[in-house]
Amino acid sequence: MANVLVFIDQPGEALKKSSLELLTAGRALGETAVALNGDVHPAVAAAFAEYGVTAIFQPVAANLDDYLVAPKAAYLAAAATAAGATTVLLDNSPEGKEIAARLGIKLSAGVITDVVAVDADGTAHKSVLAGSYTTAAKATTPVSVLTLKANSITPEPAPAATVPETSAVEVADDGTAAAARITSREQKVASGRPDLTDARIVVAGGRGLDGDFGPVEELADALGAAVGASRAATDAGWISHDAQVGQTGKTVSPQLYISAGISGAIQQKAGMQTAKVIVAINKDADSPVFEIADFGIVGDLFDVLPQATAEIKKRKG
Ligand SMILES: Cc1cc2nc3c(=O)[nH]c(=O)nc-3n(C[C@H](O)[C@H](O)[C@H](O)COP(=O)(O)OP(=O)(O)OC[C@H]3O[C@@H](n4cnc5c(N)ncnc54)[C@H](O)[C@@H]3O)c2cc1C
Repeated sequence: MANVLVFIDQPGEALKKSSLELLTAGRALGETAVALNGDVHPAVAAAFAEYGVTAIFQPVAANLDDYLVAPKAAYLAAAATAAGATTVLLDNSPEGKEIAARLGIKLSAGVITDVVAVDADGTAHKSVLAGSYTTAAKATTPVSVLTLKANSITPEPAPAATVPETSAVEVADDGTAAAARITSREQKVASGRPDLTDARIVVAGGRGLDGDFGPVEELADALGAAVGASRAATDAGWISHDAQVGQTGKTVSPQLYISAGISGAIQQKAGMQTAKVIVAINKDADSPVFEIADFGIVGDLFDVLPQATAEIKKRKG
């Protein structure tokens, strides 16, 4: 019986760093099983063994992706019961959080989202109120469901590899009866940049860019970073709403967040304040973004960003 069940949706040909973080966090809590949706590529199987996974569950039904989240929650509830899990870990994506909420109801479990660290006794740590407070919370229910923010912990393989056993999970109530069915899908044009929520480095721009995201994109590409934006920039139509970071946008927790021409309103801070290092570029020395910045550059971003990009390119050769 595993104590911890980690949900990994469609791993593809290699596990994402955020999935490795979930496996590492799970191991700190106890024996870890995985509830998988999708195929197990050999590289993924090898990673499960390396990260100490003891069991892999897969759904009998192969059509979970034909629906929005309800059948995934039903499957995960059945897998948690089969595993005897007392903690279920999911990623902190909007979908992960919605599955967590539904799972919480199915298992009468306490749900904690936006987790940045977990203690061995299950105490979860969160950064709340736009990062002004750090809280510790623990579910008092027999099962707890936690969603972990990407880039919160360093992935570490287990001291000894395992040979996980795979078994299929039948879902009595497959959750499809009343679920929204996906009727069509359209492939998003690939940018070649990392996914914003998982990215280790984010370069974000705001109204100060005055409609020209070029300098932000060039620095992002030099650093292998994702591009983010303030709501002022997305509302102005300068960049897609997908790039919005903040209270009503995406929550990011990268190692490095470079903020350019963003004032640092509380709603923007809410989405990025847990970044490990924040570098702010703003021409107004009194801008609130400097209150949370580790490094601040008072200057015109159209001077600063191209210089930074040129220097990084030079050092990379
Ligand atoms: C309910 C609600 C939800 C919201 N959700 C979000 C959210 O999710 N994300 C979000 O970002 N906002 C959100 N907002 C909006 C938020 O309150 C701010 O209005 C927004 O973040 C401002 O964006 P900005 O900093 O880019 O623009 P501004 O506040 O206009 O700041 C622009 C900054 O650029 C600087 N600047 C200008 N030109 C240059 C230059 N050439 N070089 C360097 N610096 C320059 C200025 O000094 C200024 O500090 C929300 C608001 C509400 C009410």
